[in-house]
Amino acid sequence: MRLGVFGGTFDPLHIGHLVAAQNAQYAASLDHVLFVVANIPWQKEYDRDVTDPLLRLAVVSAVVDQIPGFAASDLEIRRGGRSYTVDTLRSLREAHPYDELYLIVGSDAAAQMSTWERADELPSLCRLVVVNRYGYPSPSVMPGFAAPIFAEMPWLDISSSDLRARVRDRRPLQFLLPDEAIRVIDRYGLYRDETSPTATPRE
Ligand code: ATP
Ligand code: MG
Repeated sequence: MRLGVFGGTFDPLHIGHLVAAQNAQYAASLDHVLFVVANIPWQKEYDRDVTDPLLRLAVVSAVVDQIPGFAASDLEIRRGGRSYTVDTLRSLREAHPYDELYLIVGSDAAAQMSTWERADELPSLCRLVVVNRYGYPSPSVMPGFAAPIFAEMPWLDISSSDLRARVRDRRPLQFLLPDEAIRVIDRYGLYRDETSPTATPRE
């Protein structure tokens, strides 16, 4: 089996993530794509309050668990602490010793990979699938990865940062993320103000 590993903060999940995963699946002939929700995304921990991981997972699960071939993973949340891709790939390797792992990254993330924790170990653990991201037209892929697979997708200038600002400003969200995701965001009152919500749903 060829297993795609698509890590992210997903705060929240949006159509850009889904189109990226779909085209990575196609380009690399992946049997499954796991959306791995970061517990503590260490690059973002001092920039802003990241939403409770279980709430980010709730949005991802509500959407991707209904899509054949896609699944949400709570592996990094169960592990706790800061989320490092190298640890995730190692545990997936142990859990699926006969599968080939394909790490899916947008070209913005690809350009940062040499700064990741124990980055030098990554090429021995997985192959790399790079998806084009608006604003990052020519990804510079970390040396060490033999022939990354490039997955083409339409340029979608959609980001979680923009969606959070839209909720705060009461601007429209519809069609930028699936309706199921909007329903979970509404139910928990996510992103309405700067403070991180707790895991108590609003009814
Ligand atoms: P934020 O604005 O909070 O950083 P984001 O939209 O960048 O959120 P992340 O969770 O940081 O979302 O991204 C997870 C992965 O999805 C990264 O590899 C990123 O490159 C990729 N990705 C996110 N949005 C897009 C998009 N619109 N097109 C292609 N790839 C994307
Ligand atoms: Mg990002």
